[in-house]
Amino acid sequence: MDFITSATLKESDNEVFSIIEKELERQTRHLEMIASENFTSPAVMEAMGSVFTNKYAEGYPNKRYYGGCEFADQVEQLAIDRASQIFNCKFVNVQPHSGSQANGAVYAALLNAGDKILGMDLSHGGHLTHGSKPNFSGQNYQAFYYGVELDGRINYDKVMEIAKICQPKIIVCGASAYAREIDFKKFKEIADAVGAILFADIAHVAGLVAAGEHQSPFPYADVVTTTTHKTLRGPRGGMIMSNNEEIAKKINSAIFPGLQGGPLIHVIAAKAVAFKEVLDPKWKEYSKQVKANSKILAEVLIKRGYDIVSGGTDNHLVLVSFLNKPFSGKDADIALGNAGITVNKNIVPGDTRSPFITSGIRIGSPALTARGMKEKEFEIISNKICDILDSIEDKELHKKINKELEELASNFVIYNQSTY
Ligand SMILES: *Cc1c(COP(=O)(O)O)cnc(C)c1O
Repeated sequence: MDFITSATLKESDNEVFSIIEKELERQTRHLEMIASENFTSPAVMEAMGSVFTNKYAEGYPNKRYYGGCEFADQVEQLAIDRASQIFNCKFVNVQPHSGSQANGAVYAALLNAGDKILGMDLSHGGHLTHGSKPNFSGQNYQAFYYGVELDGRINYDKVMEIAKICQPKIIVCGASAYAREIDFKKFKEIADAVGAILFADIAHVAGLVAAGEHQSPFPYADVVTTTTHKTLRGPRGGMIMSNNEEIAKKINSAIFPGLQGGPLIHVIAAKAVAFKEVLDPKWKEYSKQVKANSKILAEVLIKRGYDIVSGGTDNHLVLVSFLNKPFSGKDADIALGNAGITVNKNIVPGDTRSPFITSGIRIGSPALTARGMKEKEFEIISNKICDILDSIEDKELHKKINKELEELASNFVIYNQSTY
């Protein structure tokens, strides 16, 4: 064996090894409250770090362009079958490298350049890939937007009005920073009224949908995309689902050979492992806890005088507005970070500050729930968040809270030293 095949990462590249060690420590010591992040199981990571990373498997199960794909076929088919069982749909493509790639494939499959799409405004909670100007979806297609009302909620009558005026070919529903349940049935009525295709992007709430803790986009949506690494707790990646065979065929061609080359079979193997976890009865418990925890977070923040967009939450996240406070989302992000709480600054409806400053933060419960935290811990953490925001200039206090929270975090260890 030459030195490359025999050495461990530590022996072969101590520089990278020690950076990974530091990242592991960061993830362990800090409280991860970014709504789009989560912790996968060691089993998912093991599959992701497997020999499948060596395999080329362009094409689909039993229709490959390379030899030696019999096990790649088996593992991809397993991922497809499990996803189709979870979401109760007929056709699944597990190859998208990310949520954005999945969305790109939907547009490429169903639209021509310049066609009209209607999506949720980025500054109201939508995603870049829903028609935002700096993104391919806003550059290649003619994008129109709906948003939320002053009460922070989508007004479906308004969406209907906008759809009737712009006559889009695709209506995109689903969001990245929206704390209320999305009514796919209402979106379907709107899509039907204007003859549009309904495209649901459930990247954020997929795990809740899988547990029956959020309305399912099926049978309403014509095509559904998701990421696999957010509430779904799998490896970083995307997925596309449909019950329409014609659409599914177009999607498969759009992913390969349209947009991507060889699938990441090691990631697909990890997706299969994550889907098995989702099919476990315990998944329902986890998802219920995710919602219960974000609810406590919203309640405490409101009680302590903070403004929550839409006045609460139905899902895994809370959007806090500082429009009526003397500090910005960026200030809050930094102060919380100094106390060991990781969140992200976020534009809120009616924001007057730039996307780099913002007047809000987005806080999510999935990652800490994965570490085993429940209402009791969320109540403590939510009050600490308010203590920090109440005294946003008091760096000494932030340091003190950091110490206390590190102690709390140390009781909820998710990975040990052999996890990389
Ligand atoms: C996160 C997200 C995506 C994109 O996923 P990436 O894997 O980061 O490309 C797409 N749509 C929505 C609604 C998202 O929240």
